[in-house]
Amino acid sequence: MLDVALLSVLLVAIAIGYGLGYHQAGRRRHRSLSPSAPSQALSRDYFVGLNYLLNEQPDEAINTFINVLAVNSDTVDTHIALGKLFRARGEADKAVSIHQNLLARPALSQHTNEQIQLELARDFMALGVHDRAQRLLNTLLEHSSDDELRYAAKQLLVDLLEREKAWHQALEVIQPLFKQHPKLRRPAAHWLCELAIEEISEASRALAKKHLKKALQLDESCVRATLLLAELEMDNGHYGRAIGRLDNIPRQELAHIPTMLPALKNAYLRRNDVAGFEAHLYRLLEQAPYTSIIISLGQLVHQRDGVDKAIELVGERLRAVPSLGGLDYLIDLYIESQRLNGKSSPDTRLLLLKHHTDALLLNRTRHRCRHCGFASDALQWQCPSCRYWGTIKPVIGVEGE
Ligand SMILES: [Zn+2]
Repeated sequence: MLDVALLSVLLVAIAIGYGLGYHQAGRRRHRSLSPSAPSQALSRDYFVGLNYLLNEQPDEAINTFINVLAVNSDTVDTHIALGKLFRARGEADKAVSIHQNLLARPALSQHTNEQIQLELARDFMALGVHDRAQRLLNTLLEHSSDDELRYAAKQLLVDLLEREKAWHQALEVIQPLFKQHPKLRRPAAHWLCELAIEEISEASRALAKKHLKKALQLDESCVRATLLLAELEMDNGHYGRAIGRLDNIPRQELAHIPTMLPALKNAYLRRNDVAGFEAHLYRLLEQAPYTSIIISLGQLVHQRDGVDKAIELVGERLRAVPSLGGLDYLIDLYIESQRLNGKSSPDTRLLLLKHHTDALLLNRTRHRCRHCGFASDALQWQCPSCRYWGTIKPVIGVEGE
């Protein structure tokens, strides 16, 4: 597909170039009456390229066309576009040579020169040569006065620093941009969470807490910062405070209630407050009838009042919001009930149903990126596919919560 795009860009460019060349050569012939060698070379190479194309040799055709396409103010944009296409095809090394070849031309305007430097930095990023990309970007930021280009360079630099896990440096670059681009606050909050995790591992809890509070100042919906703050409270034995922190999460992001349930349960159990946990679960159910909450309640009732009461509660709750996970849990409860009622082995129909729900649950997607749709079993704070932060959330609906 990209080959087609690349070739069509080239063919159009060559056709224009050929037309111009022929036209200019014609004018020169009128003046001097001498034959025009460049024009003839151009037409010969053009037909050699076409010949490659007809013989289904696209790589040779592309190389011939690039050689034929002279660099001048009319074609520089085509060369830049070609470099981009090569990079998109995964051939960043070819993109580098095209862009470096362009930079070697002395007659470029400052704007074009800076544009090419930015593309070259992208090529080096694609090749994983981060130090060269960083040097180019720093030079651009030092000298360019073009706001649009500076913003693009900063975005690229931030992407690079993020990949290098240079969180402090990334924060320094991004901070001045918050006013104009408030959406950048979210990734910055996650970098502060990353810093907090580093501090926790080095036993600097006070500093970790500072980073997390800053993260919430930047992005008050940062669930991750709240979860980490609750974790710190738990480690200090402040279970009530941890519960208080976790209580903010439904307000921050309803879909993350299932994410925080294990921590919530842990905090209540550590302070021997099962009744408090049950009341909290009912409160959460009023906000969102998620399967994880229903199952947690079912487990509490099962333990305290027996399996039949749990079946009653879970069956009734699931009637309003059916889900695969809920059905699977209900079947477990029925099997347990039959066992307790003296059946030597559970009903084979139940076992068959259980077999099906197990198989379906095994293949289900538990988390999905709300930006690009990437499916993930575990929760990841940065999407590995689109690299957005905080966009992967638990799947809600019949297959999920
Ligand atoms: Zn994504």
